[in-house]
Amino acid sequence: MEKGTETTTPHIVMLPTPGMGHLIPLAELAKLLVSKHGFTATFMTSASSTASQTQQAFLSSLPSSISTLSLPPVSLSDLPPTTAPETRMSVEAVRLIPAISSALKELKTRHNVVGFVADLFRADTFDAARDAGLRSYLFFPTNLLTLSLILHLPEIDANLTCEFKELAEPVQLPGCVPVPGTEIPSPLQDRSNECYKWMVHHGKKYREADAILVNSFDEIEPDAPKILRQPESGRPPIYPIGPLIQTGSTLDKAGTAECLDWLDKQQTNSVLYVSFGSTGTLRKKQMDEVAYGLELSGQRFLWVVRIPSDAESKNDPFASLPEGFQERTKERGMVVSSWVPQIKVLAHKATCGYVCHCGWNSTLETVAHGVPIIAWPLLAEQKQNAVMLSEGAGIALRLEKREDGVVEREEIARKVRELMEGEEGKRVQRKVTELKEVAAEGMKEGSSSMALARWWRCGGK
Ligand code: UDP
Ligand code: UDP
Repeated sequence: MEKGTETTTPHIVMLPTPGMGHLIPLAELAKLLVSKHGFTATFMTSASSTASQTQQAFLSSLPSSISTLSLPPVSLSDLPPTTAPETRMSVEAVRLIPAISSALKELKTRHNVVGFVADLFRADTFDAARDAGLRSYLFFPTNLLTLSLILHLPEIDANLTCEFKELAEPVQLPGCVPVPGTEIPSPLQDRSNECYKWMVHHGKKYREADAILVNSFDEIEPDAPKILRQPESGRPPIYPIGPLIQTGSTLDKAGTAECLDWLDKQQTNSVLYVSFGSTGTLRKKQMDEVAYGLELSGQRFLWVVRIPSDAESKNDPFASLPEGFQERTKERGMVVSSWVPQIKVLAHKATCGYVCHCGWNSTLETVAHGVPIIAWPLLAEQKQNAVMLSEGAGIALRLEKREDGVVEREEIARKVRELMEGEEGKRVQRKVTELKEVAAEGMKEGSSSMALARWWRCGGK
């Protein structure tokens, strides 16, 4: 780059919260700003975001116009081993403030830095941006429902007299689908835990951002954006800029092509994809019910199997499947260990349904490919997403659980057949097709980030 142009090119600095589900959408935003809007970018990384090989490989696969800057490690050895990951990430953010502040000041001497973007559990680092004289932005990698819950949490907390799960009435946030207390995100389910206290803190801290960017789009949560766009004193403006979904994955594992070869041999719209995200695991007795349920359904399936949390054999996930399952279903099912190139699976013409854990990236990916879902939420904010996707957006069927929390094989088989062949299946398919068309508009040529880029170019005013 010629001398002189370097200082006028808008430059954005980003600090992601560790975890693939957080890194991917923030990297997509950086890629759009760089490729469509002429920005340059720096991704700040901490020891915890390079701790896993997957995250390391992902960060080193970013285009060269996105630099990475690794912050000096901070010690978290004083935290008890039982500390929740959300708490660790929040504490780490606070301890990183002095290093981020110096790094931002140094970057300003070389670049036209137009803003600092931190995500999710990194909001305390807005203090570093302020110290360096920069505007700060929160990137929220899930939806408006969850954002709204965290923004309202300080006030909800002040009036709560019990745990969320003990509430008689659902939690009703403005413009959002009512959420039963039992479905409120898991980190909020124990008010005496440090993790809960951090979430209340983030709810206050988010208000210090100059703006909040959310990886969602209006039509998937129709009323929430209208309400959240209304100016409210003390709350920053909120911009839904999604759907941002993974492009050009370099992380597909060797051997995963087999499942695509298998899909190539199946008829159009005949296969149910079954997966619980990058970390979700079932217990052995639940895994048995899934296996027998798929068998009973008589439908074709591609199932990503992980070792159950209570498995005896920790080496072979297939060893936990019921005796003879693979042999009995070999004509119409494929089981894959741990990982598939999900976007390619969802884009495949044979795929017509998804048993999904309702992680937000997977949700946006399934919408982008027009694949309806059976919701099977496990952790974090997934249960709340499942409520929104079935009762709000209308693109998911729900499963009934037994009292002990297990979903029985007959229920699984019934819902799978309903999704693939029934009237309810047609209804959710129509709805997800409509959303797919709207999502495609938002993804065209980076249009969802256009207004944002223009706004940053003129100094966020
Ligand atoms: N994984 C993958 N590609 C990705 C993201 C994750 O293959 O784009 C796999 C990863 O290898 C591991 C699992 O998903 O099997 C969880 O990844 P994580 O980052 O949690 O941990 P790692 O196994 O890399 O330490
Ligand atoms: N993913 C994948 N293959 C798998 C499992 C997951 O490619 O076998 C990707 C998926 O496409 C998505 C991300 O990993 O981009 C998972 O993010 P999400 O927010 O859905 O849930 P999480 O796994 O973080 O709970």
